Amino acid sequence: MEKILLLAHTQDDGSLPKAACESLNAALTLAADLGGAALTVGLVGGDVKAAADSLAACGAAGILAVSGEDFAASRYASDALAVEALVREAAPTLVLAPTSSRFSRCLPGAAFRCDGRIETHITGIDVVDGTLQVQRWYYRQRMVAKLSRAHRPWFLVIDPGVFEPWQGPAGSADVQAVEVNVGDDHKRTEVVGVQTPDSDAQTIRPDAKLLFVAGAGWTKKQADGQLQIKRAEELILNFINRSNASLGSSKSLVDQSSEGGEVISFMSHLNQVGQTGSTPRHPKGLATCCHGEEPHTVGWRFINERRAITLDPNCGWAQGKADVLYVADAFEVIAKVNELLAEG
Ligand SMILES: Cc1cc2nc3c(=O)[nH]c(=O)nc-3n(C[C@H](O)[C@H](O)[C@H](O)COP(=O)(O)OP(=O)(O)OC[C@H]3O[C@@H](n4cnc5c(N)ncnc54)[C@H](O)[C@@H]3O)c2cc1C
Repeated sequence: MEKILLLAHTQDDGSLPKAACESLNAALTLAADLGGAALTVGLVGGDVKAAADSLAACGAAGILAVSGEDFAASRYASDALAVEALVREAAPTLVLAPTSSRFSRCLPGAAFRCDGRIETHITGIDVVDGTLQVQRWYYRQRMVAKLSRAHRPWFLVIDPGVFEPWQGPAGSADVQAVEVNVGDDHKRTEVVGVQTPDSDAQTIRPDAKLLFVAGAGWTKKQADGQLQIKRAEELILNFINRSNASLGSSKSLVDQSSEGGEVISFMSHLNQVGQTGSTPRHPKGLATCCHGEEPHTVGWRFINERRAITLDPNCGWAQGKADVLYVADAFEVIAKVNELLAEG
């Protein structure tokens, strides 16, 4: 019988990230699908009490924790030690964890030390005739594969946005502390601070309900024969801040910076969606001033409901790629929507 260990690390405020609750849901479902496999939770963080209490009702057989000042911040050396210790203590056959920059850094090394094998970017977990199969995408999300492995322990790092987050009442959890000594050799990297952009400059919001995509049309001459880039910036920024949407872009728009043209100032290649960009996951997407060509729309694979506003009734969106297409001037539509959003 398989034994599952679900790993999670705390956030700065001591709570668990949403992705950890999603992976917990995946682990609970898997345990049930495997006919009642034992599930242990392993926590890493500075102070894990609040996180453990938030999971008190999840039904795990036990909660292990490596905690203390040495584990408050993300650092490969101490995190790999913590994960290794949790795996040795729980002796699982399957280790599930959410994808985060912290885990992405330390889990491959920890898996190696535990003589494990690791799969990243898991987007599906199934039990077929008693055999565990996991799903992941290859070749920039164009090919999907199902994999199984005989080797144990098997580490599965789960992409965010795939499973619903586990929810349940908080309680008072029994936590078994796992001691880990972090020697000076493991403390050569010290976190001295975190630099992040201002919150209104952060336009990529993976948890947003809406993806707003701006295409190159925003920087083209408009009906009056003039460029309206400052107005475009104002409309877009206003919209994403009022609606809390995440900002995506077509390649043509972000490439303009390297071509010397006037550009949308807060847009970078990180915003690019598509074959050579990202494949974000949001429940809804709205494309504006974008033609909807295949190399762009392939990045919309995981967007459930798609809408587009463009002047061209024969664009790619009209060829079956959008659920709803508004043939209209996006400047006018977004100005009106911003007005309505401002009214509340
Ligand atoms: C190998 C390869 C990889 C690629 N990878 C990617 C990728 O990852 N992502 C990506 O996006 N592209 C990618 N491309 C490029 C892609 O094929 C398209 O060229 C690009 O997506 C076009 O961007 P666009 O629709 O914003 O611009 P355009 O094709 O210029 O379209 C602009 C649109 O805006 C509309 N418009 C103008 N003014 C308004 C207005 N006022 N209101 C409403 N609509 C208006 C126009 O009608 C037009 O349809 C790739 C191409 C190749 C060859």
